[in-house]
Amino acid sequence: MLQQTQVSRVLQYYDPFLRRYPSIEALARARPTAVREAWDGLGYYQRAQNLHRLAQAVVKRHDGRVPQDPKALMELPGVGPYTAAAVTTFAYERRALPVDTNVARVLARAFGMAKPDSAGRRRLARLARRLLPRAGKATWAFNQALMDLGATVCVARKPRCPECPVRGECRFVRQRLLRTVSLRPTP
Ligand code: SF4
Repeated sequence: MLQQTQVSRVLQYYDPFLRRYPSIEALARARPTAVREAWDGLGYYQRAQNLHRLAQAVVKRHDGRVPQDPKALMELPGVGPYTAAAVTTFAYERRALPVDTNVARVLARAFGMAKPDSAGRRRLARLARRLLPRAGKATWAFNQALMDLGATVCVARKPRCPECPVRGECRFVRQRLLRTVSLRPTP
């Protein structure tokens, strides 16, 4: 529901949907038109169709339990690398790194790649994976912190660097400081 949609909008649909389909089995058994009706008004109806097909696949192939392995997750309808990593870390507390726009921005700035090309993005992902804690629970906290940092401090337009907990390690801050010093007129 949250794909391309704000939390405030999803809130009015989430609880009624869960009341109507309280389990994966209940959703898998539902008629496609009923699922579409429960989604009515939320838009992007392909998501409802995917979720319905996902529930059916989970019941059929995984005994009604959403798999923990990211590769198995990505074989389910509508699940890409980001969703698979998010479910792995937030639902199952296992080691994975979901990179959304906010997280990508924090990593790019912290590692000094303001506008990474595709090779740069792959390098960023490798660096970020090396930072991930080994234990699943710690990974959960790390990912949540990274998302919160991107949403509240390292924001797109005006990052709030003076209040940022990683400012001492951040290349963006260092580069900005160097630029300021080199622009200063010599006495
Ligand atoms: S110090 Fe500034 S640019 Fe670096 S991660 Fe924090 S908010 Fe973002």
